[in-house]
Amino acid sequence: MVRSPATIDRDGLDALLGALRRRGFETIGPTVRDGAIVYDGIASSDDLPVGWTDVQDGGTYRLERREDDALFGYAVGPHSWKRYLHPPELTLWRARRGAEGELEVSEEPPEAPAYAFVGVRSCELHAIAIQDEVMTGGAYPDPFYAARREGAFLVAVNCTVAGGTCFCVSMETGPKAESGFDLALTEVIEEGEGARHYFVCEAGTERGAELLAELPRSDAGAGELAAAEAGVAGAAASQGRVMETEGIKELLYANYEHPRWDEVSERCLTCGNCTMVCPTCFCTTVEDSGDLAGESAERTRRWDSCFTMDFSYIHGGSVRSSARSRYRQWMTHKLATWIDQFGTSGCVGCGRCITWCPVAIDITEEVAAIRADALD
Ligand code: SF4
Ligand code: SF4
Repeated sequence: MVRSPATIDRDGLDALLGALRRRGFETIGPTVRDGAIVYDGIASSDDLPVGWTDVQDGGTYRLERREDDALFGYAVGPHSWKRYLHPPELTLWRARRGAEGELEVSEEPPEAPAYAFVGVRSCELHAIAIQDEVMTGGAYPDPFYAARREGAFLVAVNCTVAGGTCFCVSMETGPKAESGFDLALTEVIEEGEGARHYFVCEAGTERGAELLAELPRSDAGAGELAAAEAGVAGAAASQGRVMETEGIKELLYANYEHPRWDEVSERCLTCGNCTMVCPTCFCTTVEDSGDLAGESAERTRRWDSCFTMDFSYIHGGSVRSSARSRYRQWMTHKLATWIDQFGTSGCVGCGRCITWCPVAIDITEEVAAIRADALD
């Protein structure tokens, strides 16, 4: 078993992808599509966003060329791994009318491909752990999520570039992956003559160590480990946002009637973008549909959002009819009631909700505003 850190080069990374595919995994990783870095099937390192970085701020995202061939020189994009573990749309069951007119209902089997996720950031490992608790930690585990999650092989990448809206340091979720991965990579690109481009690779599980042992590699020396640590420290020091989390649950519970909720609701479009891109948001609705002849029907589960009126519609009306109440519900759930419900914060500081909000509403700014002028 290879337990001590090793270094691999780009060929080694391609060997890793090949070894995962030979083991039957569907390899999913970051790739460039439609002007963004999204997650999709990848076959080799050529499919990664080679030489690209992202520039992010409130309501702003764009790709720019780097001056090198970094494979992981960017932060997180609009996708998160929940689109594979907890897909946006899922058929739960189908029904057909039989020859005698009787209904035959068949539940969709909760089968799933064996996924290998490549390029999972530390905040995303925390988000997956949070969704594990939500989807499978209670009395009624979700079999669809469990089938996708079970056996998924996670290749983490420690961040050496921080996004403009990242605040994982505040949430204690990054930028270095500490657990929950099979393998973790840190990309190092040296400068100057004879500069090398390599990845410090460490195993977090036995199967990760087995796979690492198959790759062309060398033992990581002290200089290589220090270079990797320096890259991660640089990302930690250059995060675009901070959030003061001390006593945040009590702060929000004491400020349900803070005037800041009125101010933010004047800007909020209740579009739900923040919930779609958030790696921990999990709410769904179910829709039934049938054909016009009455011969078949199916039930589909889709992502839903607490920003829609329908989400809290109960016999004749919506419980949260104002934008104020819906934004307050979302933010208070993320940062306060989630702690009572699941034992952790519901926010990992990935910054997606800030970047992808069309009017640049910023959860860190909202917390700071309430804290600066708290009612209690
Ligand atoms: S906070 Fe922004 S992204 Fe979220 S619902 Fe309001 S306008 Fe949309
Ligand atoms: S609330 Fe925003 S910053 Fe926190 S995990 Fe969700 S998308 Fe990321």
